[in-house]
Amino acid sequence: MPERNSSSVSELMKGFERVCRAKGLRITHQRTEIFHELAKFHGHPTAENVFKKVRKKLRTISLDTVYRTILTFENNGLIKRVQILDNVARFDINLKVHHHLICTRCKKIEDFMWPDFDNMELPADARGWPKIHSKHVEVRGLCSSCGAKLNSKK
Ligand SMILES: [Zn+2]
Ligand SMILES: [Zn+2]
Repeated sequence: MPERNSSSVSELMKGFERVCRAKGLRITHQRTEIFHELAKFHGHPTAENVFKKVRKKLRTISLDTVYRTILTFENNGLIKRVQILDNVARFDINLKVHHHLICTRCKKIEDFMWPDFDNMELPADARGWPKIHSKHVEVRGLCSSCGAKLNSKK
């Protein structure tokens, strides 16, 4: 998995500290390490993905602790949950408005931007609710590496 470049990771870490201070969330070594792994992860990791990385630094940590820490992050708006093809929760550190391309074969999730859509008004059928928090597009198909594998089999 490619990792995020170090300048955007340090931006994310600054944001993490800012939000923790604003919400009165203690910045422990453990939380910092877990958030740091989330920040470095390119894509949408599961708690287990993060656990496997964090375990290299925090030898005694359990998957349960990682999971509960991630839930604390979620409850404080530090990350978002993406529930997609399977029942495994994946987490998204990209809090900017974006949409998802989902590969139905390898389950990879890629982010994409669609400002025209974001600015578009909802159609009449979907406008009935007094408050809309967000709208999100999921495009499903095959990613380029799965597409290439399929073509090479022909
Ligand atoms: Zn794929
Ligand atoms: Zn995303």
